Amino acid sequence: MDWSEYYPAFASEASETQPDSPRQLTKNVEIVDIGCGFGGLLMALAPILPDSLMLGLEIRTHVTQFVQEKIWALREQNGGQKYQNAACIRANSMKFLPNFFKKEQLSKIFICFPDPHFKARKHKARIVSTTLNSEYAFVLRPGGIVYTITDVEALHQWMVEHFNSHPSFERIPDDEAEQDPCVDVMRRETEEGKKVERNKGLKFVALFRRLEDPSW
Ligand code: SAM
Repeated sequence: MDWSEYYPAFASEASETQPDSPRQLTKNVEIVDIGCGFGGLLMALAPILPDSLMLGLEIRTHVTQFVQEKIWALREQNGGQKYQNAACIRANSMKFLPNFFKKEQLSKIFICFPDPHFKARKHKARIVSTTLNSEYAFVLRPGGIVYTITDVEALHQWMVEHFNSHPSFERIPDDEAEQDPCVDVMRRETEEGKKVERNKGLKFVALFRRLEDPSW
């Protein structure tokens, strides 16, 4: 994966001996927004966490392109001084997450207003499941956090059950979660979050911490 085209301000100089080889980044991507939609969370978080590289994963091609172009425009409007740490790629996060990130690379994963897939026979399409939670555990470092939010109470319960029953995660108590500034951003800045706000709907938040693996 050549990340330098997504984060050019964080790419090292091209090698003199191998000028065509991909330029390394000075730091790794560490925050991921799964199913980022139109990128509201990324645009809001990028200036708040300017030293962390963040990436949106979005399955719809035209939406991905919209987000990437918006990031380029924001970089230009800010004289190249802001939004250099955000990018978006088209990817099916259910299939390719471990292809993009190394073990324990990430510090935060956001899962904001995922598609609810209400019918029981469609539950396997939900992006929280025992198998996928193991992939999230693989790419998250111990102490890293999965942030979830939804307006569908049954989906909230599903996500809580699946993370609670996974040995690599523990739920962060709500009073502690509320102290995390990212929670407020997640509530207010995603496009779905704004829609729910307009409709005066409820938002269910749950955070889960990646535990240390037991020593064998
Ligand atoms: N997170 C955004 C927000 O809160 O405004 C968008 C929420 S929208 C309801 C769900 C998004 O997840 C859609 O943009 C959809 O295309 C994307 N999505 C669904 N399945 C996905 C997958 N397997 N990989 C990547 N993105 C996916």
